Amino acid sequence: MSKYPNLLLSAEQSRRRFLQTGVLLLAGANASPVFAQGEKPMLRIGLMTDLHYADKNPAGSRYYRETLAKIAEASRKLSDARLDFLVELGDFIDAADSVDVELGYLKTIQKPFAEISENRHYVLGNHCVDTLTKEEFLSTVGQERSYYSFDQGGYHFVVLDSCFRSDGKSYGRKNFVWTDANVPAEELEWLADDLKQSDKPTIVFAHQRLDNEGDHAVNNSPDVRKILEQSKRVTAVFQGHSHANDYHQVNGIHYCTLRAMIEQSGVDNNGFAILEIDPSGGLKIEGFKKQASYQWA
Ligand SMILES: [Zn+2]
Ligand SMILES: [Zn+2]
Repeated sequence: MSKYPNLLLSAEQSRRRFLQTGVLLLAGANASPVFAQGEKPMLRIGLMTDLHYADKNPAGSRYYRETLAKIAEASRKLSDARLDFLVELGDFIDAADSVDVELGYLKTIQKPFAEISENRHYVLGNHCVDTLTKEEFLSTVGQERSYYSFDQGGYHFVVLDSCFRSDGKSYGRKNFVWTDANVPAEELEWLADDLKQSDKPTIVFAHQRLDNEGDHAVNNSPDVRKILEQSKRVTAVFQGHSHANDYHQVNGIHYCTLRAMIEQSGVDNNGFAILEIDPSGGLKIEGFKKQASYQWA
């Protein structure tokens, strides 16, 4: 948060900051409209990440049970927004000691999440497939694949799965270390091919980070970035996993890391966003509570 303090900027300050950095900071719910008067967004997308729902006592800064109150608040805001679709960027649940209990956590959080929008997309996070297998998670939320793409409103969207060990094996049943996140060769090949076949501007959803190196990054993030860059169609990547707001632009692509919903106690520490795409391709991210806001031309 320290990098993008939630200040209410005057129009002139905003304009200057935007010109300087290409990142316009808005003040959440109090922000003035960004689009020209009468101009409607082409697409409106709900975003949230790292909900870590579990019926267990808090640990450190993670208040597992409070996710239910936070998603109820998010639901009120997002339901009013008439979303085209809703995405959770991974770590939807937290670990339990048994498969049955963990499945119970998933069913509990899936219910309020599903009520927000009929059109939903789930990015797998390491905590989604800790005790569960990918098949168990996906069949419970009603999603066929862990990585895939779809077109909507003139845009192409890609959901990635980096929950693979370096030997290519899928995470599940506690068979992995969370720092060993990889996009395997088969998925890279699929991604390059998928992007080649599309002629639309593209937005990518991921869990582990693709914009840097280190513990929270996908081990072969440079390979993934290269494919995204070569397509010349990817405008932005939305990701989670490291729990704090962050933003980098790498070779012309915006990489936005969203703030985790699970962090800290109380709904004032909630975090979620609405992404609006305007007809000229501009992206506006309206952040609520601890989620930062951005605008990219
Ligand atoms: Zn997480
Ligand atoms: Zn994670």
